[in-house]
Amino acid sequence: MTAKKSTKDDPKNRQTVTPWKVETAWEKLSAAELKQLEAYCADYIRFLSDAKTERLAHDIALAMAQKAGFVDMDELAAAGKKLKAGAKVYRSYHGKTLFLAQIGKEPLEKGLSLIGAHIDSPRLDAKPNPLYQDDCMALLDTHYYGGIKKYQWVTIPLALHGVVIRRDGTKVSLNIGEDPGDPVLTITDLLPHLGAEQGRKNLSEAFSGEALNVLVASRPVPKDDGDKDYKERTKLRVLRLLKDTYGIEEEDFASAELELVPAGPARELGLDRSMIMGYGQDDRVCAYATIRAILDAKGIPGRTRAAVICDKEEIGSYGATGMDSRFMENTVAELAALMGDSYSELTVRRALARSRMLSADVNALHDPAFPEVSSPNNMAKMGCGIVISKYTGARGKSGSSDASAEFVGEIRRIFNDAGVAWQMGELGKVDCGGGGTIALYLARYGMDVVDCGVGLLSMHAPQESASKVDIYMGYKAYKAFFEAK
Ligand code: MN
Ligand code: MN
Repeated sequence: MTAKKSTKDDPKNRQTVTPWKVETAWEKLSAAELKQLEAYCADYIRFLSDAKTERLAHDIALAMAQKAGFVDMDELAAAGKKLKAGAKVYRSYHGKTLFLAQIGKEPLEKGLSLIGAHIDSPRLDAKPNPLYQDDCMALLDTHYYGGIKKYQWVTIPLALHGVVIRRDGTKVSLNIGEDPGDPVLTITDLLPHLGAEQGRKNLSEAFSGEALNVLVASRPVPKDDGDKDYKERTKLRVLRLLKDTYGIEEEDFASAELELVPAGPARELGLDRSMIMGYGQDDRVCAYATIRAILDAKGIPGRTRAAVICDKEEIGSYGATGMDSRFMENTVAELAALMGDSYSELTVRRALARSRMLSADVNALHDPAFPEVSSPNNMAKMGCGIVISKYTGARGKSGSSDASAEFVGEIRRIFNDAGVAWQMGELGKVDCGGGGTIALYLARYGMDVVDCGVGLLSMHAPQESASKVDIYMGYKAYKAFFEAK
């Protein structure tokens, strides 16, 4: 093809070219909106500090929804009720996954406006028989959950959260290490004086998963203090403490979910207080925005709005409470039964296939400390707004659902119209690694899905960091998506 000489080459006829600028979002905010940003971020810091596990995040979100007038779908179904436009409903699943919906004016088969985030985060889980004694110390054996850099989890204060189902079937909840008056737990590390050989190993070899043992006690029970046959006297002290405080026996560990997470609250970060640092921002930063967006979205929508915050993303979305389960499909079927006069499977299939979804998950920010893995023009930058990721995956987009240009175009239009600061983002340099989200588990129904979330520094570390303006733009973006025509 030969380029024809165009009359536009004449400077008089030349058209204006608009550059694509990704710039800091702070300057786009009015004084009034900056105030809203600070109020939202203060609420978020409280949520992040309290929602240390998927169960706690679920419970807090459920309480927020109930306060906002959302009612239990399963109870409505049992009572034979039908839903009208504007109705607000929820469905809780095993106390770990939560679905919220606001019924729209259009029939369900037109599809949902859906946002989904996950509320599980990388952590250390106690093994089923965790408690043992070594020398005079009592320790908890753990198995890590999700992708962690193990060296980051030693020598930090840890809190213990979770539930134990006792022999008689009763459930007891544990929360140790968050209150400033509580003791904390920790994993020890070798002193540098003896660390010469450890220092020569590479990072993944220097810290083994099996060695992540949590120190929980060091004071033995005196030998003359009963239970004479019990040789491990420090372990005995822990068992007595558990029995006295919680009514827990050692065998009860078999039916328990005990999670060790970084202790203490989330904080403002930076001399200018422009960022937030805390545990579990992947993906509770998007989960909180998702919940707040559906609670705050104005008016009765055309398409039914739905939000789901789910479990098990960090280990591949498997299990009953992960997005690979039929939870979502079953819940849309329940909705169809509650909304229509006669239930039809075709309605459910159409509703799912015609839905439009934001997969609300975090993305990595460009970190100037690690330029060797960064793709600077295509990695998100701190403070420049919510990140849209057309695709995720690894090495040739493997495992990605890759959103269509048409759908990305629609989302971009919604965000631009609502004054949402947004940027495109990719995880990093091609062939350096990769990651996935829940997007593909919803894309399987044929719906349009795109990943869209807040950018983080130090993702999966015990303390993750994010910009307040990006956090706020997450909320604003999700609300705009729900309110869009
Ligand atoms: Mn995530
Ligand atoms: Mn993650």
